[in-house]
Amino acid sequence: MKKLSYNQTPIEIGSIVSGSFQHYLNENYQHSKKVLIVDENTHDFCLEFMITSFPELADAEIMLIPNGEENKVLEVCYQIWEALREYEINRNDIIINLGGGVITDLGGFIASVFKRGIPFVNIPTSLLGMIDASIGGKTGIDMGGYKNLLGTFTEPKMIFVDISFLNTLPEEELWNGYAEMLKHALISDKELWLELKLVDEVDDLLNEKMIISSMEIKLNIVERDPLEKGIRKLLNFGHTIGHAIEGFLLDKSPIAHGHAVALGLWLESYISFKREILNGDDFKSIEKAILDKFSMVYLDPDHYNDLILLARNDKKNGNGSIKGILIKSIGECEIDVVFEEAELVKSFNYMNGKLSLLN
Ligand code: NAD
Repeated sequence: MKKLSYNQTPIEIGSIVSGSFQHYLNENYQHSKKVLIVDENTHDFCLEFMITSFPELADAEIMLIPNGEENKVLEVCYQIWEALREYEINRNDIIINLGGGVITDLGGFIASVFKRGIPFVNIPTSLLGMIDASIGGKTGIDMGGYKNLLGTFTEPKMIFVDISFLNTLPEEELWNGYAEMLKHALISDKELWLELKLVDEVDDLLNEKMIISSMEIKLNIVERDPLEKGIRKLLNFGHTIGHAIEGFLLDKSPIAHGHAVALGLWLESYISFKREILNGDDFKSIEKAILDKFSMVYLDPDHYNDLILLARNDKKNGNGSIKGILIKSIGECEIDVVFEEAELVKSFNYMNGKLSLLN
């Protein structure tokens, strides 16, 4: 059993059955009501295991929400808050978020404002949830098509990470998590990068040591900058271009968030290379690692303006500029960089050019 912590939030990694979850519940919430928030998949693949393993959860209220990002919205929160009110949930009770990043973001948000905050724990069940979304205290929901527009910084009481939940996670979702692991390595850990480059097939990702290294990167950053005043922005590497591509393709031929982030990492590295901040060998290494696992997409030059608009409207920007992260070498990045429109266009042309070489 591996134990980590950040900003006084304990994280336990290992089999949830052998760990302290049961003791934690009995010690702190023996006479409390327990609420489990799940989506359809974690209802089908993870919930039964939890209920049969922990008799303490036999009477838990189960709140089931439909799968997917489109449900990370206020309307769903409202329904759950109504249910919490009906069940007379109060600050002595506990919410258990059992799911991927959608559930931990949404469940955390629901808990953080209900009766001015009731305790919650996160049990992430997706790779992205384990290495990223469940850690760091950001809760949130989307509004009007903008991601995470409403939210709070509220820490879970504890995070329990059991990688056996990943056995039922679809392959594409494991690759989504891999993209964020690449990001973590690129911003601060060359050694992890070298290990991640060796990942050949999806089963190679079910590696607790690599997952822990990736978690440690995030928690080290959020510990130093919990409210994203400075270095926490490093975690946005790849996301300026990635979010623009993801948003642009949403109503055409949608791609997964991790896929878009991987393309963003590649193209923001390209901009770093063109600015002569990143050397050619590192750029080629990044390009190869990403294109080995993720396919390129064609971006129609007639729509470059739409992509630029999306990048400009990203919530981390101000004053009409497009802000991003540059990479200086593998394991070292620079925050608060302003991207020129022409640089974005060049990077889109670069991807399109590479695609045409394949035809
Ligand atoms: P997700 O929660 O939608 O999970 C992905 C899919 O996997 C879903 O269909 C889910 O039902 C399914 N799933 C989850 N666990 C499963 C399991 N064990 N077996 C079978 N299926 C399973 O998405 P995600 O990729 O985990 O997280 C993305 C979300 O996380 C986004 O909303 C993003 O904004 C958020 N996020 C938050 C932070 C943060 O700091 N709070 C950081 C990164 C991402």
